[in-house]
Amino acid sequence: MRPTGRPTGRPTGRPAGRVPVLLPYPFPTPFDYRVPQGMALAPGDIVRVPLGRREVIGVVWDGTADGGVGDNRLRPVAERLEAPPMRQDLRQLIDWIASYTLAAPGEVLAMALRVPALAEETARIGWQPAPHADAARLTPKRQAVLDALATSSPQSGPALAEAACVSSGVIRAMADAGLLLPVALAGTPAFAAPDPAHPGPILSPDQRHAANILCEAVSTRAFSVTLLEGVTGSGKTEVYQEAIAEALRQGRQTLVLLPEIALSAQGLNRFAQRFGVKPAVWHSDLSPATRRRTWRAVNDGSAPVVVGARSALFLPFPDLGLVVIDEEHETAFKQEDGVIYHARDMAIVRARLCAAPVVLASATPSLETIANAEAGRYRHLILPQRHGGAVLPDVSLIDLRADTPARGDFLAPTLIQAVTDTLAQGEQAMLFLNRRGYAPLTLCRRCGHRVQCPNCTAWLVEHRARRVLTCHHCGHSQGIPQACPACAAEQSLTAVGPGVERIVEEAARHFPQARVLVMASDTLTGPDAASRAASQITGQQVDLIIGTQIVAKGWHFAHLRLVGVVDADLGLAGGDLRAAERTVQLLHQVSGRAGREAGSPGRVMLQSWNPEHPVMQSLTRHDLAGFREREAAERRPGHWPPYGRLAALIISAPEAADADRIAAELGRAAPHGEGITVLGPAPAPLAILRGRHRRRLLLRTRREIAVQPLLRAWLAAVRVPAAVQVDVDVDPVSFL
Ligand code: ADP
Ligand code: ZN
Repeated sequence: MRPTGRPTGRPTGRPAGRVPVLLPYPFPTPFDYRVPQGMALAPGDIVRVPLGRREVIGVVWDGTADGGVGDNRLRPVAERLEAPPMRQDLRQLIDWIASYTLAAPGEVLAMALRVPALAEETARIGWQPAPHADAARLTPKRQAVLDALATSSPQSGPALAEAACVSSGVIRAMADAGLLLPVALAGTPAFAAPDPAHPGPILSPDQRHAANILCEAVSTRAFSVTLLEGVTGSGKTEVYQEAIAEALRQGRQTLVLLPEIALSAQGLNRFAQRFGVKPAVWHSDLSPATRRRTWRAVNDGSAPVVVGARSALFLPFPDLGLVVIDEEHETAFKQEDGVIYHARDMAIVRARLCAAPVVLASATPSLETIANAEAGRYRHLILPQRHGGAVLPDVSLIDLRADTPARGDFLAPTLIQAVTDTLAQGEQAMLFLNRRGYAPLTLCRRCGHRVQCPNCTAWLVEHRARRVLTCHHCGHSQGIPQACPACAAEQSLTAVGPGVERIVEEAARHFPQARVLVMASDTLTGPDAASRAASQITGQQVDLIIGTQIVAKGWHFAHLRLVGVVDADLGLAGGDLRAAERTVQLLHQVSGRAGREAGSPGRVMLQSWNPEHPVMQSLTRHDLAGFREREAAERRPGHWPPYGRLAALIISAPEAADADRIAAELGRAAPHGEGITVLGPAPAPLAILRGRHRRRLLLRTRREIAVQPLLRAWLAAVRVPAAVQVDVDVDPVSFL
């Protein structure tokens, strides 16, 4: 990702009487529409336009209408909606993302329009059906309005028009005819204002120094990027909250992006401690009403701070003064389906378009970010110590070859002893295994058959508590068979390998007195469940926490003294470009949960079959810098990211032969030249996903070569039939 560069702005100035309108569908360009007499339209206006036989919502776009359609065939804009227009920086962002990811601009627009508030006017009048309306003879459009009210009543005019797919004229006419009655909608309280003068903690000299530099970046009101690197528990949150305080003093807004699962009450409470109130939040679990309210409050500036997951990137901030990206290294920022984009990178683009500074916070920054810092593109601040004299935990390795678990078990005797001791002292322990379910593989002892997903190249994972085998890629679920599906032998199926449920079972045998809490993404659904779990832990109603990667994130548990990593080798298995980097980040993050209070040092034990591995060695020595140097030395000569660029093409089709044919054609049409390499085509590791056969090609270029023009020319050279889909993944994170 280049932090600089220009959005694909087009010249303004347009022929009178027609406008380009971008529609939220995967068309390559905006479409032209005629501006009816008496209607004034400007870029950003939200309009309803005919498309085929329907009417759809779109946005008047920038640039000239392309004139490809003659004036006589042009269809008119039906209506300009009473909605706040889409801001210019957001339109530029949409064009920029489309151009960078090669997605259709309309697909990107669809993400920004996925907010029911859009068609909502500020007038808080709603409509409900008149008592006699049902008995009246109605046109289909009017009937559609009543049907929409049958599901939810009252609704505001614009919301109702959108729900019923009719123009606001229909609703006005029904009101005039007495078929709809007006009611006042409940008021929507604004967000309480965070108070920058509310007393915060007294910062240590290191923290103060970093905070001052961030505050200065905010008051400069210019684009810049600062990496705030600090060991776990060093006070990164406290420091960037000072930058938020500065933005509040300036009267400007702040966007804080977090990886989805970290949107925990714990973090929000920290914010409340500093600023007196909780911030507005934005994530996929919000109710439609809260979404609307939040969107409106962002749009009119009454929500000064929004803490959100990646989709918060598209919120309509009128005066964005600061962007914070916490845990910037997290792969959860990469959206892997639909428009494939990296929310961290696109948030940096948004900040540049708004002339706002960015803070990237992490204990384990990505190699990309480190490379940008080393090249002088980003400022680099370091918090080297845990706050208040707490020390980093002691990390040791358990060599499973020598310290082998009992038959059928997964915990080594040394780890069992350490947990037992910790619990005996009244302290908390955590067992970490990054795998949901009971067992990753079900195998027939008679014939060796492995139970596979019918739709994917993947084994089904047993979830014993729910009594199903399920596919973690497509969601396919089936009962656990009594007999082997291949050889029909009875009682021959056996669970192979551990998932977190199986560790729970084993822990119950070794630590029968312990009060156990399981934290996995399928047991803790949503921020509320996560915050309940967190308060059980801090309230010491729990002795032993057993969890998947959800436990690694940002939590601060004062009494947690021991972390046991059940399978430290797990993340290295796939062997893709970033396997080692991701493993170090994840395990460092988990380890960082232990011993966060001064005076009660923590311990971390990593179970490994390969303790000599450089990843394990750098973890025990807390030597992230050494690890990064070694990774850099491996990646630099081959121009692997961040020292080069990558883009993947993923070809998929219901028939393997179609996927192969198009993959081969793309292989023949591949770009070539100095500094350009194409790998593949090859079957994807997930060769079949949801019933589609998948092939991959990987384009690698030197850093100074942009991949987008190469990709455009490449894709234009091959005609792809409708049955075959070609997805483009620029800067791929997943190689499955
Ligand atoms: P990080 O984000 O780097 O992991 P946090 O900001 O979560 O670190 O800080 C770790 C803990 O130390 C938190 O409980 C935080 O409230 C506390 N802390 C950090 N700095 C200070 C400070 N200057 N004064 C008081 N408490 C602090
Ligand atoms: Zn599947």
